Amino acid sequence: MSEFVLKIQDLEETLKDFAFVITTDWLKNALSDTDCGVDPANENGSLAVQAQLSGDDIVVLSAIQTSITAPCARCLEPVALPVSTNNSSVLSPMRKRGPLPEDLELSQEDLEVTFFSGDQIVLDDFVRETVLLEVPMRLVCNDGCDSEHVRKYLGDDPDNPEPKEKIDPRLAPLMEMMAAMKRGQKE
Ligand SMILES: [Zn+2]
Repeated sequence: MSEFVLKIQDLEETLKDFAFVITTDWLKNALSDTDCGVDPANENGSLAVQAQLSGDDIVVLSAIQTSITAPCARCLEPVALPVSTNNSSVLSPMRKRGPLPEDLELSQEDLEVTFFSGDQIVLDDFVRETVLLEVPMRLVCNDGCDSEHVRKYLGDDPDNPEPKEKIDPRLAPLMEMMAAMKRGQKE
């Protein structure tokens, strides 16, 4: 079921405020089909919306505040990532345009028009996409990786001396670094 819904009958020609809670349960569910290891943090977030009718169109201003965790690219430990975004968009009713001619060349501007149809605006997909866009391509621990975590990841855990059988070949440089560190300790 959709969580973040604006009913068009509630909107007016002046900005109206709407406040939603982005629960960790909702976020967990929304992120469950991604394979990038993104999870909600422990606290609920918020979605604040201001919306206004503008002729046939609807102006939507939104602010998302929440926090997620995503795995560090080096040591795989979850890294906390606060999410704070502000967006504005203009939604046009679907019927205004009708089907586009096949040979029409679309400009970038055309592609960014967002449509709505029916008697409500559902923001669930928008919230999900916006949160996912906040995850950087390469996320690493803020204060450098904890060397214990890197050791565990590489199978060099003092509590578990047997190395993991399969080690990603992309980790070879790290393995060499660890080996060099070990040699340094022995000397
Ligand atoms: Zn790390």
